[in-house]
Amino acid sequence: MDPMNDPTHQDRRRYLRRMLLAAGAMITGMGRVASAAELLGERDPAALAQDYVASARNVDRRKYPSFDGHQNCANCALVESGTAIRRHCSVFPGKLVLPNAWCKAWQPKGRKL
Ligand code: SF4
Repeated sequence: MDPMNDPTHQDRRRYLRRMLLAAGAMITGMGRVASAAELLGERDPAALAQDYVASARNVDRRKYPSFDGHQNCANCALVESGTAIRRHCSVFPGKLVLPNAWCKAWQPKGRKL
């Protein structure tokens, strides 16, 4: 008998095809979970610990006299993947930050960490 026509072989192929489809669905679902991360709020305990502000205009300049007015998440070395308006940040795992936000962990892009 031709092994390709063997019912056991065909069952195995069907099983493998289903497993591949299930794995693909799981990977797609994981991507949706990652992109469903919440926007970091200023009152979030992690944000408070880093003096995160949603707008760099609201940085307390008395507390941070070296803040130069041009620092923000868009030009920070710690910002990660995301969209133009919301990005992941390595300081706040699972949350998204705004491009014009700021926190005291800001680092200039290009600096070796
Ligand atoms: S570490 Fe950088 S990207 Fe993250 S919140 Fe602070 S300023 Fe924004």
